[in-house]
Amino acid sequence: MPVQQPHHDRGESRDLEINPVFSREPLRVPRYALPEREMEPDTAYQVIHDELMLDGNARQNLATFVSTWAEPQARRLMSECVQKNMIDKDEYPQTAELERRCVHMLARLWHAEAPHQAMGCSTTGSSEAAMLGGLALKRRWQHRRRAKGEPTDRPNLVMGINVQICWEKFADYFEVEPRYVPMEGDRYHLTPDKAVELCDENTIGVVAVLGSTFDGSYEPVADIASALDELQSRTGLDIPIHVDGASGGMIAPFLDPDLAWDFRLPRVASINTSGHKYGLVMPGVGWALWRDEDALPDDLVFHVNYLGGDMPTFALNFSRPGAQIVAQYYNFLRLGFDGYRRVQQTCRDVATRLAGEIAGLGPFELITDGSRLPVFAFRMRDGVDHFSVFDVSAALRERGWLVPAYTFPKNRTDLAVLRVVVRNGFSHDLADLLLDDLRRVLPRLDEQGEPHRGEDDAGGFAHGAETKNPVRPGRH
Ligand SMILES: *Cc1c(COP(=O)(O)O)cnc(C)c1O
Repeated sequence: MPVQQPHHDRGESRDLEINPVFSREPLRVPRYALPEREMEPDTAYQVIHDELMLDGNARQNLATFVSTWAEPQARRLMSECVQKNMIDKDEYPQTAELERRCVHMLARLWHAEAPHQAMGCSTTGSSEAAMLGGLALKRRWQHRRRAKGEPTDRPNLVMGINVQICWEKFADYFEVEPRYVPMEGDRYHLTPDKAVELCDENTIGVVAVLGSTFDGSYEPVADIASALDELQSRTGLDIPIHVDGASGGMIAPFLDPDLAWDFRLPRVASINTSGHKYGLVMPGVGWALWRDEDALPDDLVFHVNYLGGDMPTFALNFSRPGAQIVAQYYNFLRLGFDGYRRVQQTCRDVATRLAGEIAGLGPFELITDGSRLPVFAFRMRDGVDHFSVFDVSAALRERGWLVPAYTFPKNRTDLAVLRVVVRNGFSHDLADLLLDDLRRVLPRLDEQGEPHRGEDDAGGFAHGAETKNPVRPGRH
């Protein structure tokens, strides 16, 4: 029997043969209103697919900490699970079980004294995890104060000004006074003495960051803990620490095993990490863990029964995708401790080598060298002022590299830097290609910057730092 498409015979589908999808495209694709009529799925797909060509290339995005590469097997598992809603734990008990196993693995990785007693949950990312961590600190403080008949109307949270934006949001949304330690000179993150100075009886906790989004440095968690121990012995104030390990929570255990920043420090009550950063999962999954039941007040945990069974939940979202949790479990199973160590060590090797090469180019000076988080920030060397980090960022964009330039917060708003985040998939080879491009653009920037500088040259390069819109690193 001949296979024949009847409409071909009618001779009215020449367009379909020549250019089947584009000839079906309506004259105008509505952008902000629901279209009147349906269109063919292939047409809709192609229109959207084409529009998204204008996005940057995720793999060249050196601004983000979030995974842009995953193994095909992880992607396959994710697509097998896209339809699973994480909240339906009674319906998808095995997905819920994988989530539980991940929490246990993290509790062990972070040296919980009794890993089976550690409390924890997955979230959409570190931001949600930070909200939960902050809420637990606030509620514990309220309970302690109320038990003593003391007022609970003025809670505060102590942290460095370098915290990620999620902590500003937490403070704002949940009405906690944020007490930021500003940057000073060459000090770009929280230090023990400055943290303790801001603590009082209304402090719900101190947030220590491992590591800082601004420059990839680790905050000295153990020293902050000792300073708070000393504060307690002096004043009786018992102030817990939450460690924001969005990135470092999945770096330090593998590369800095002797660094005590986690539940080994009794003062660390809770820790968050982003599974979608150095946990190596595609966005979005995060994790929040508490050292034991005491650290997570029971009255924050809700119980729902309308999906069947009795299910405790501590989360801001109800529905959320389950695929990322499956992918997290896949990575844990697939890589194990040794695999993670090798992946993270390679990131650190690429970062430190690239940082070294950039330092050798001449016009730049390193703020950090990639030896903590595989992330480094660099500035223009003193005296190089005829082009700025913003010009360098713009020039690299011509080849698709997204290297953000931004200014530091209070009191170092004068300091403008570029930052490179090295992730799994950013190989030595890609780093060399980036270096080649950097070497290529520098002479041009140098030349362009020099001759045009008149005394009143308002359009000159030297003004870049003030006139261009800095990208805040904290949003990534
Ligand atoms: C990325 C980051 C966050 C926010 O995490 P998301 O997973 O993007 O919500 C919070 N804190 C730090 C230190 C970060 O680096």
